[in-house]
Amino acid sequence: MRSLIDIFELSTDEVDRLIAKAEDIMSHPTAYVDKCRGKKLATLFYEPSTRTRLSFEAAMYELGGNVLGFSEAQSSSAAKGESVSDTARTVSCYADIIAMRHPKEGAPLVASVNASVPVINAGDGGHNHPTQTLTDLLTIKREKGRLSDLTVGVCGDLKFGRTVHSLISALSRYEGIRFVLISPSELRIPGYVRDGVLENKKVPYEETTDLDGSIGKLDVLYMTRVQRERFFNEEDYLRLRDSYILTPAKMESAKEDMIVMHPLPRVNEISHEIDSDKRACYFRQVMYGKFIRMALILMLLEIE
Ligand code: ASP
Repeated sequence: MRSLIDIFELSTDEVDRLIAKAEDIMSHPTAYVDKCRGKKLATLFYEPSTRTRLSFEAAMYELGGNVLGFSEAQSSSAAKGESVSDTARTVSCYADIIAMRHPKEGAPLVASVNASVPVINAGDGGHNHPTQTLTDLLTIKREKGRLSDLTVGVCGDLKFGRTVHSLISALSRYEGIRFVLISPSELRIPGYVRDGVLENKKVPYEETTDLDGSIGKLDVLYMTRVQRERFFNEEDYLRLRDSYILTPAKMESAKEDMIVMHPLPRVNEISHEIDSDKRACYFRQVMYGKFIRMALILMLLEIE
């Protein structure tokens, strides 16, 4: 039995196979409508979510399975003081697979050690978000036709943005990837990603505060929200939240075929006028998320 806590637990080959499976599901959805008949997914969300939880649920329904769970800690026994490990043991009696989001880094890992069914990390604090990364990889593959030889700009809150940490880890394994890390100096990428991944794997990267000066060289621009809920004080958040706002004027300097991605929710960092730009693919990215999660559920439940 396998869980998915960190994107590194999947080999590049497995990631490529998940992408291929998601593409097959997109082309032949009716072939999959009964694959999870009789199976149950539990979504245990201790933190707010729209896309991740609903896409997991939609994925399970589209595979013919059922869903149970909670969407806030207050409505679960966590409010009475139950530990994540006890909850994981309990839910293993009701469900075949668990997707867990938690504000504490490592909580899904603790759940996976104690559960008797596969556990998927659906976001743990400011740490990791592997299924967003699978979504992002499928998006890049579909929109750019490849996962190699790309200059990828990642812009915004690189410190607390968990999607960025997982994405850099995953993309670093492909050939010819270069990163441009664009953030205010207070929100730079954490050392464990810079040293542990980029330096360690000798992946070319630069760190800058300058979006305008960098946008022209990018094939992918991955915008992120400043993660208000991870700040220790509101003043810092207010000072930093509008550091980068992508506007049509900025897009004029970008390549014709650059794509703009965002894990969403967007707050202020992409002007709504960009939505109609053909390079904006963040809503298509949402759609890809459901298909890759269908592929992942099938893989972890060992269903062909
Ligand atoms: N939805 C993503 C996450 O859960 C990105 C974000 O919240 O800014 O990490």
